[in-house]
Amino acid sequence: MGKVAINIATGSLQTEEIIVGIDLGTTNSLIAIVRKDSHQPIALREIDGLTLVPSIVHFGTEGNITVGNAAKELLVAEPERTIYSAKRLMGKSYKDVSDHAGFFAYKVIDDDTDALVKVQVAEKFYSPIELSSYILKELKQRAEHILKTPVNKAVITVPAYFNDSQRQATRDAGRLAGLDVLRIVNEPTAASLAYGMGVKAHEEKTIAVYDLGGGTFDISILKITNGIFEVLSTHGDTYLGGDDMDRALAQHWQKQLGISDGEMKRDKSLTQQLRVTAEEAKKHLSNKDSFEGAINGKAVSVSKTEFNTLILPLVERTITSCKNALRDAGLKAEQIDAIVMVGGSTRVPLVKQSIRDFFGKDLYDQLNPDEVVALGAAVQADILAGNNTEMLLLDVTPLSLGIETMGGLMDVLIPRNSKIPNKAGRQYTTQKDGQGSMRISVYQGERDLVQDNRKLAEFNLTGIPGMPAGMPKVEVSFLVDADGILKVSATELRSGVQQTIDVKPQYGLTDEEVEKMLLDSLTHAKEDIQTRALMEAITEAQQMLDVTEKFLAKHRQDLSPEEISTTLNSMQLLRDAIDIKDKDSVQHATESLNDISRPYAERVMDAALKDAMKGRKVI
Ligand code: ADP
Ligand code: MG
Repeated sequence: MGKVAINIATGSLQTEEIIVGIDLGTTNSLIAIVRKDSHQPIALREIDGLTLVPSIVHFGTEGNITVGNAAKELLVAEPERTIYSAKRLMGKSYKDVSDHAGFFAYKVIDDDTDALVKVQVAEKFYSPIELSSYILKELKQRAEHILKTPVNKAVITVPAYFNDSQRQATRDAGRLAGLDVLRIVNEPTAASLAYGMGVKAHEEKTIAVYDLGGGTFDISILKITNGIFEVLSTHGDTYLGGDDMDRALAQHWQKQLGISDGEMKRDKSLTQQLRVTAEEAKKHLSNKDSFEGAINGKAVSVSKTEFNTLILPLVERTITSCKNALRDAGLKAEQIDAIVMVGGSTRVPLVKQSIRDFFGKDLYDQLNPDEVVALGAAVQADILAGNNTEMLLLDVTPLSLGIETMGGLMDVLIPRNSKIPNKAGRQYTTQKDGQGSMRISVYQGERDLVQDNRKLAEFNLTGIPGMPAGMPKVEVSFLVDADGILKVSATELRSGVQQTIDVKPQYGLTDEEVEKMLLDSLTHAKEDIQTRALMEAITEAQQMLDVTEKFLAKHRQDLSPEEISTTLNSMQLLRDAIDIKDKDSVQHATESLNDISRPYAERVMDAALKDAMKGRKVI
């Protein structure tokens, strides 16, 4: 891991090294490269001819992890061990996804806080970042197997609507898989690049990218000006896709065959058979007029016309999103220069026809719609590798820019290789009750711990009004102007207190120094990941200690002497674990303290709630 090609003569990074493009999809993922000989992007194909790897991870009872088609086959038999759609959970808290909890057949952890979600498989917990990293690891291994060379660098795509924390989560997943993620690219941008749009200087175009995948739909309106992509608007439905078409047809057949809902609930294999046959029929109808098959030995059929009637409401919902996206961008359908079709479900003829009619134009649909995003990621990778000389090269930030957060960790706001000018912002909060000031330390570099990076500036945001810990909202924003000058500002949003500072990040760094910092980050990647994990565990432990201490101070009278003494004991064990800096012990001790305090915390809260209810009763 962390291996890198070095030109021994010059001591510089070997530019020959391959950079792959990865589409990390909700349903399917794949990897693509630009061929050296033809300069054309191609999706990597296994001997079995397949390019798509289902984004599914299965955890075996023996601790073995399977990804892709092999995992997909276990979906029905072992639903609680087979994780799909992890992308939907990236950078989300349980609150964010609780409305859709029924969507997931596996256990998404409900601790009713703003903490990031985890998935529980048996007695283990996995973050969406870890889950995605297993998929990326699998893709990396496949690529290495097919290309017969180490693959350490990648461009990964994300939906245009992904926010900072979802992008960062994707980046972290890449890193965890042993990949240096050179750039996170918007999926619609990648799709446009695959069609050669936006790679030439002096090009101005407005593009609509229509992406209908397995379970998600989005439409993005992009403006390309001289190689810069700007997202004018994006709309969509994160719970609408090809799966809904399968479901509509399956329900149609279920009715025809007179199968009751109860029977469906009981007979999982029948449900599965209906779903699989429906998907098969749907695909078949993309280039044939009718389908005939069998469910449980009984013949079923569907004509293209019948199928179109079933899916019409779904297609119409996507058209409504298109209208909204145009409205938000302040454009009319005829002002769109090109419409790019993305996602396996755009193969459905009714979808194509409806979109063609809506925009009144021919579509860009010649490339394989489920490969086009990965192909574009490969084009972007090729540009970064410096192989595409036609591409105008924009100034980019040579190293990542970020600030120090709890535990001395580097929190990147502007990743390295970002085009400038650039802007990014993120919200932070206080750690202590009544904390009146916050130190903002700005760093440059690729390492996980700020102590290994380069400090650029530091200032104090003072005058934060007294509030409980976690209440203040401090927005830190970075602005790199066209000259590479970084302006950092911090604003407490509730009170409006603000402070700003100018820094010149590149100052004094030679190309060699930048390269050395990059090399360092690769050599230390593994140990950095370990340190980060330890620091995160310690931060969590300290929060647990704080909360417990506060709870004891407030509710001592509601606890038995025994509860108090086991708690104090467990707190001491946790402090000891923090002292010896062992991640597993810290996590273990945090969990034990949590296990000890949870029952009485719940009891006390329940009682408080009952009291409150009583108080409110009107006679
Ligand atoms: P995602 O971007 O969500 O990972 P994909 O772009 O890979 O998803 O699209 C997967 C969806 O495309 C599935 O619902 C699948 O059934 C559908 N699909 C694949 N091939 C066809 C086809 N020939 N006709 C219709 N739908 C198809
Ligand atoms: Mg996709």
